[in-house]
Amino acid sequence: MKASIVVLPGDGIGPEVASAGVAVLRQVAQRFGHEFAFTEHAIGGDAIDRFGDPLPPETREALLAADAVLLGAVGGPKWSDPNASIRPEQGLLAMRKLLGVFANVRPLKLHPRTAALSPLKAERTKGVDLVFIRELTGGIYFGAKTRSDTDATDECRYSVEEIERVLRHAFDLARSRRRKVTSVDKANVLETSRLWRAVATRVAADYPDVELEHQLVDSMAMHLLTRPADYDVIVTENMFGDILTDEASVLAGSLGLSPSASIGGPGAGVYEPIHGSAPDIAGQSLANPLGTILSAAMLLRHSLGLAQEAAVVEAAVDQVLEHANLTRDLGGSATTHAVTRAVLDAFTAKA
Ligand code: ATP
Ligand code: MG
Repeated sequence: MKASIVVLPGDGIGPEVASAGVAVLRQVAQRFGHEFAFTEHAIGGDAIDRFGDPLPPETREALLAADAVLLGAVGGPKWSDPNASIRPEQGLLAMRKLLGVFANVRPLKLHPRTAALSPLKAERTKGVDLVFIRELTGGIYFGAKTRSDTDATDECRYSVEEIERVLRHAFDLARSRRRKVTSVDKANVLETSRLWRAVATRVAADYPDVELEHQLVDSMAMHLLTRPADYDVIVTENMFGDILTDEASVLAGSLGLSPSASIGGPGAGVYEPIHGSAPDIAGQSLANPLGTILSAAMLLRHSLGLAQEAAVVEAAVDQVLEHANLTRDLGGSATTHAVTRAVLDAFTAKA
């Protein structure tokens, strides 16, 4: 197949990990006879420096024509003044809006070798293989806000349509997995959560083969630590998802390992590691590229429909996690390049 992939290296370690992801995608194209066209564009601090705009017009144009987007990371101390009128993160928000993505997908899987680095008790790391789906466009972050000297308000609002589309994504994904959806809300106190729960129950009727359970967000926060292996697909609204996915990211053992996708819109999906720009290790080939490589696998599966290719990449990463010298964050001494090479080699042996 032919696909046009926009690469946004961004800031800090972004360019180093993005090029690892591209190397793997190039190898997939070669092995399976696909034609992937890659074009690099500016975003974030890099784009502010070069164009005075965190999402310049030429990047926007490329995004609208893309089949999928691979992103490194944006931000860093150089642009971190919270009072600045132009900030790198505005590029991310503008991109999400432009592409209409509404579901942020974050898998959490614990590999036996890296499970030792997880803060979870050893016996609780077994069989952890779950995916969070966080609604990205609604809720309290986007509601009306007021503030006076004496009080402040943040409005939380959800439409049935916004809830339903993200829930359908969760149920569809569960069908390709263990067929269980956990819908997280705070229906004992919030009206938006009561609506969320009602819509979830109604959507579930269209998926009789998938089990639906409702869980309150406070209890979810605890169960993520006490019985994470019991979950398959966890779907929730924007703010709850923001908090729970940060909690989950710590459980993986290193920020460098976890991929993510922002999908669902009419435009391209965006695939990126969950970590930030890590300015403390930028430019030293210390960055763990596996989160980005696993994001590239998600890109293959979700945006290009290449499930077999994605599985080959994931299997290569599994092999590397088992046998290879890893980067420093995972207790090894390998460079970004060496780990990327190891994935490419494991891949060659497989395909
Ligand atoms: P954000 O930029 O989203 O605010 P942050 O500043 O909280 O994120 P990161 O930039 O991700 O966090 O870095 C947090 C810590 O994790 C740093 O010490 C960084 O070096 C480390 N880290 C992040 N990503 C990686 C990676 N891919 N490989 C190795 N270490 C990483
Ligand atoms: Mg950072």
